[in-house]
Parts: sequence; C-alpha cells; structure tokens
Amino acid sequence: MQQTSKSEFIEIILDDKTSRGIAHNGIEITIDRTICNYSMYDPSGCKKCINICPVGVFCTRPIEKRDYSIPPKERVDPTKWIILPTWADWCNGCNACVKECPKSAISIQFKAV
Ligand code: SF4
Ligand code: SF4
Repeated sequence: MQQTSKSEFIEIILDDKTSRGIAHNGIEITIDRTICNYSMYDPSGCKKCINICPVGVFCTRPIEKRDYSIPPKERVDPTKWIILPTWADWCNGCNACVKECPKSAISIQFKAV
C-alpha cells in the first residue's frame, strides 16, 4: 500500500518498504525501512539520523492504515513507529545522516529542478 501526502514544498511517499520525502527544490531523501531499526519503544532504538540532522529534517509517527473502512481510532497502530523525512526541503546536503546511519538506510539525491 502506498500513502502519499503533498504540501507546497514537499511530497511524502510511504510504501511497504520505504519512507521518501521529495522536495520541490530537487532534494529526495529515502529511508529504507526494511533495514532501519527505529523503534519508539526500544530504549536502544536508533535515532541517530534525528539527533545528528542540524536542521530537523526527520520526524517520527505511528504508522497509519489508509483504509477508511476502518474506524479512525483503529487505523493507527501505536506500537509501530517509523521515521519520515518530513522536512526534506530544509535539507542542506551535509550528508551527516547518511554517514551516521549504522544500517546505511538513508540515501539522498539532488535532482535538477
Ligand atoms: S543531509 Fe544533513 S541536512 Fe540533509 S537530512 Fe541529512 S543530516 Fe539533515
Ligand atoms: S540512523 Fe538509520 S537506522 Fe537509525 S533510525 Fe535513522 S534511518 Fe534508521
């Protein structure tokens, strides 16, 4: 299942394997969630990308089913959190998150706009 949300500055795409932020300035940040081990409830859970990013590109949220036949309160699974590059348009290309990630789960591309 793919979920997409858009603002004037960025498009966020979630599928079963990745979280992607595509900014209108040409920056695209992808997190491979098949290897990212982020867990809200694991005390040793990795948050290195969040902690190192100097401009606050990343945020976390519980995964939500976009099945509107399910009552709203049951769509969110509070036990399963993911990392999103929600503010990809703020990325300055420093590459700190890519170097810091112990799983090599983050990739950043700069595309001509
Ligand atoms: S490249 Fe730098 S500014 Fe961009 S998301 Fe990674 S740490 Fe943040
Ligand atoms: S640094 Fe890598 S493994 Fe750790 S939470 Fe971020 S994307 Fe996941």
